[in-house]
Amino acid sequence: MRYSKLLIPTTREVPSDAEIPSHRLLVRAGYIRKVASGTYTYLVLGLRSLRKIMQIVREEMDAAGAQEILMPVVQPLELWDRTGRSADYGETLATFTDRHGRGNALSPTAEEVCTFLASQELKSYKQLPVNFYQIGTKVRDEFRPRFGVLRSREFIMKDAYSFHTTPECLDVTYRAMYDAYCRVFERCGIPYVIVEAESGEMGGSGSHQFTVPCENGEDVIVHTADGEYAANLEKAEVDPPLEPFDRGAAEVEEVHTPEVGSIEAVCGFLGTQPVEMIKTLVYKADEKIVICLIRGDHELNVEKLTQAAGGAHIEPADEATVREVTGAGIGFAGPIGMVDKVATMYVDPWVEGMCCGVSGANKTDYHVKNVVPGRDFPTEADNVTVIDIRNAVEGDTRGGKELLFHRGIEVGQVFKLGAKYSKKLDAYVDDESGASVPCIMGCYGIGINRILASAIEVGNDKDGCILPIAIAPFEVEVVALNTDSESVFSKAEQIYNDLQAAGVDVLIDDRQARPGVKFKDADLIGVPLRVVVGERGLAEGNVEIKRRTDDKPAGVPLDQAVERILEIVRELKAGDK
Ligand code: ATP
Ligand code: MG
Repeated sequence: MRYSKLLIPTTREVPSDAEIPSHRLLVRAGYIRKVASGTYTYLVLGLRSLRKIMQIVREEMDAAGAQEILMPVVQPLELWDRTGRSADYGETLATFTDRHGRGNALSPTAEEVCTFLASQELKSYKQLPVNFYQIGTKVRDEFRPRFGVLRSREFIMKDAYSFHTTPECLDVTYRAMYDAYCRVFERCGIPYVIVEAESGEMGGSGSHQFTVPCENGEDVIVHTADGEYAANLEKAEVDPPLEPFDRGAAEVEEVHTPEVGSIEAVCGFLGTQPVEMIKTLVYKADEKIVICLIRGDHELNVEKLTQAAGGAHIEPADEATVREVTGAGIGFAGPIGMVDKVATMYVDPWVEGMCCGVSGANKTDYHVKNVVPGRDFPTEADNVTVIDIRNAVEGDTRGGKELLFHRGIEVGQVFKLGAKYSKKLDAYVDDESGASVPCIMGCYGIGINRILASAIEVGNDKDGCILPIAIAPFEVEVVALNTDSESVFSKAEQIYNDLQAAGVDVLIDDRQARPGVKFKDADLIGVPLRVVVGERGLAEGNVEIKRRTDDKPAGVPLDQAVERILEIVRELKAGDK
């Protein structure tokens, strides 16, 4: 394609909302333009890259035995109500009421619609297993769209849904998809790690996340140094305290702490440390009131709480409920006397293991000291569960091994869903014995736009993007330096035509522009291989070839240029840089 005929609006200007390199470079290199917060237009370069990623994904899905379909973005809200996920997604689910008064959701994912399809079309075990996939637009009204296309309100996802009669059969497809994902990311040329994950709003029993390690990622990967254990922060399990501490015998003592509600304020006021505090959090699990006790220096992990509560929808109790349950203002909740007032009290093992602590007194403006777990509130009772409900932190171990923390970008996730959706949406089939059984499901997502952004996040330098050849918008850029020189222009054209004939994806910079501008743009766009045809080189019978990652160009005789370019393209494609 000809540069002069395309809109590639490169710019030096950095968008004011661009916090990370991939966002800055996608805009500066003219891949995308912002329309509004979290929505973008993909220009020719951006779309070409997305298409290449989609093609790789499509080939690997087809090879893994999945069949491509296309489901609607506009979906009946009723399906989302039936699975309870309109509530789970909350405001992230974009909805509208149509002219006939019917509620609709804009698809953030498509378990509901695909399970509805299964309920209509799948009748017998003989039709299973089956795996449907689509590559299509998803909409999420993200609380905070940011980082350009990494977290946007509209994006392209490859989503797949598989249906089975047995967990063993699901295991086989799950593994096939897991392996296909590995091939997708390898072919796209991006580094990735696989971590155990929680299945979150999806429900279900097992999940893995594919994460690109990089410092600007929003996800936290937790792993042991030997790599034997790797999980995301939501999932990462931690060892309980080694031995219960000695219990102090001092009696509980009430202290006046006027208007001192937060952990920091209480610590400042009483001269205690957060590790000595018992944080008491009031939550709702499917409308039931529950209480969570975690140590003052720890954070509640909502995913772990969701699992502990059997997949219930979890949300913080509102202020009025907290007041009603504790009898005190916000910031003064404590565990003493609470067990009979709530459905369940979840106690983190690191609270159970405290010798004594400071907590709210369930009385406005008062705290209590010397609170001993097991003595002053029960740690063993029918509605008390001692369970890990906090985030892992530096210093934690798992299986005795120290846990290390890194950041990453989630690019894909696979889930074992079980029968949650099929039961709610009536996707039953007859099994071999003729009994009607709910389909066991798996689901599998990849963020197409995120692959592009994370490739740039890990591949860039001061001059611009450095993209793997498999997903770069063009494989080769021919730069015609002196466009007013007939011989330069015709030689550049010749190379361009020959490369095109050989099936190479090639861009020719045929603009009337200064060499410096052309070089800068070529580096910014990040085409993996640049070929420069200029008067000076031609005088010596040479053109210059430079990989985006080379420091200097190399001269190649004109008559060998095309052959040499094809060779380098092959090497780059084989990952042989
Ligand atoms: P996150 O935790 O980052 O919000 P998620 O776990 O909710 O993502 P999934 O429901 O697993 O996302 O969606 C599958 C894939 O879609 C993700 O792995 C990610 O690559 C992509 N994705 C999800 N949300 C967005 C978004 N707002 N913008 C771009 N891509 C997204
Ligand atoms: Mg996910």
